Amino acid sequence: MNIKTDEKTYLNYINGKWVAASNQKVNTSINPANRHEIVGYVQQSEKEDVDQAVRVAKEAQVSWKKLTGAARGEYLYKAANAIERRMDEIAETMTREMGKTFPEAKGETARGVAILRYYAGEGMRKVGDVIPPSDADALMFTTRVPLGVVGVITPWNFPVAIPIWKIAPALIYGNTVILKPAQEAAVTAAKVLECFDEAGFPVGTINMVTGPGSVIGQAITDHPDINGVTFTGSDSVGKSIGLGAFKRGAKYQLEMGGKNPVIVANDADLNQAVEATISGGLRSTGQKCTATSRVIVQSDVYEEFKNKLIEKIKEIKVGNGLNEDVWMGPCASENQLNTVLSYVKKGIEEGATLIHGGKRIEEEGLADGFFMEPTVFENVNNKMTIAQEEIFGPVLALIKVETLEEAVHIANDVKFGLSASIFTKNIGHMLSFINEMDAGLVRINAESAGVELQAPFGGMKQSSSHSREQGEAAKEFYTSIKTIFVKP
Ligand code: NAP
Ligand code: MG
Repeated sequence: MNIKTDEKTYLNYINGKWVAASNQKVNTSINPANRHEIVGYVQQSEKEDVDQAVRVAKEAQVSWKKLTGAARGEYLYKAANAIERRMDEIAETMTREMGKTFPEAKGETARGVAILRYYAGEGMRKVGDVIPPSDADALMFTTRVPLGVVGVITPWNFPVAIPIWKIAPALIYGNTVILKPAQEAAVTAAKVLECFDEAGFPVGTINMVTGPGSVIGQAITDHPDINGVTFTGSDSVGKSIGLGAFKRGAKYQLEMGGKNPVIVANDADLNQAVEATISGGLRSTGQKCTATSRVIVQSDVYEEFKNKLIEKIKEIKVGNGLNEDVWMGPCASENQLNTVLSYVKKGIEEGATLIHGGKRIEEEGLADGFFMEPTVFENVNNKMTIAQEEIFGPVLALIKVETLEEAVHIANDVKFGLSASIFTKNIGHMLSFINEMDAGLVRINAESAGVELQAPFGGMKQSSSHSREQGEAAKEFYTSIKTIFVKP
């Protein structure tokens, strides 16, 4: 594909219009595969721009919530169709803006479409229960009401799917929305919003304000008229948003990091385990919250598994994600690359053995991008930083164990609990893993990084605020239950 440069400034979307922010500052969004390529400019808005968006969203919510669920669903279907029509363009923008390969970007965009359609249908499903009252003449039941205005703060790693899996349930249950996308991927988000615009939502229903998290994210967290804040991103930012929302009595939902293990048992299908470890650990350059990061392998198969893994990893072609033969793109930013390199350095300093990769790729044609070799460590123990902290890059840590009890103990010995998988043919091993593993997603003979839009998604321990997103579970956050008692 030819390299394109699209040096447009993307504006805020407020009250159904594209509007300039209250200052002239812009952020340059560059292509991490080639730092000289500008994908677009996004505004660095101010708190006043959030205030304006909240005013219109609050006003719009009064009539939006009065529509039937089916009527709200019609708008979601239209947004889905608009995104579907622009699928290739949006996916290409995503690849150019944050680096994941074009097929992955397209898969994510298609998922966004499917999520919108799923929640469009949700507008016609049940919202409450009838409960027998203590008075025989009365009727008691529950219904669900929207929160009001919801603030949506999202990361750069899934710039289409994450905003949509928050916006779609927010809207279908009768809330209005202010989206603050990550600056690193705000051009992609703007294109999604263009599709919502095309769908013709009532003005003020969905709004977007771009800018730094410390200003715009903070303004959303603190705004007295934002009734719920939903966030996906890092651990530290999530906790500060949770505290801020808690202090003013707003509802909040946080989806944060992971340090996801895969256990390879002595009886595993090793080819299957190798495929899943590579796919789970290295797709999207390891920048998924559900990415496999620790590979805990039983000793009898350790050497064979390791050799097969390295052999396969050697075949990985790293490069610009728009090129068809490329399997792994760059890190999403220079910052991200430097973070990954600093973890590699730490791993070596703390005594782990680097057995593959470990360096930035600076060969011909890739030196202007933020490319990193797929990296594997062995002789890792659980006290090491690379076994404890989320790296968010293409780095795997191999940990050798004797027993499966030890494997599960190590798997649980981190502060996170998002996703975990095991490879085994033994039903007993499967069941004890299901019982003992502290993770929101437990996967048997499947990679750690698999999320299904119709099923609950979220983490245990410090991976989340214990809320769940997606599927029917999303209803818990975006609504409040009202219990009604009627006596004739
Ligand atoms: P991040 O730095 O926490 O940023 C996430 C969002 O928060 C961005 O929009 C950011 O704005 C904004 N933000 C930054 N400071 C803020 C503040 N003080 N107040 C309010 N908002 C603020 O995370 P990231 O680097 O984009 O994404 C990577 C992280 O996301 C990883 O830790 C990963 O595990 C996590 N993640 C979790 C899940 C999950 O579902 N559990 C899914 C995907 C990713 P700007 O960056 O634009 O300034
Ligand atoms: Mg970028």
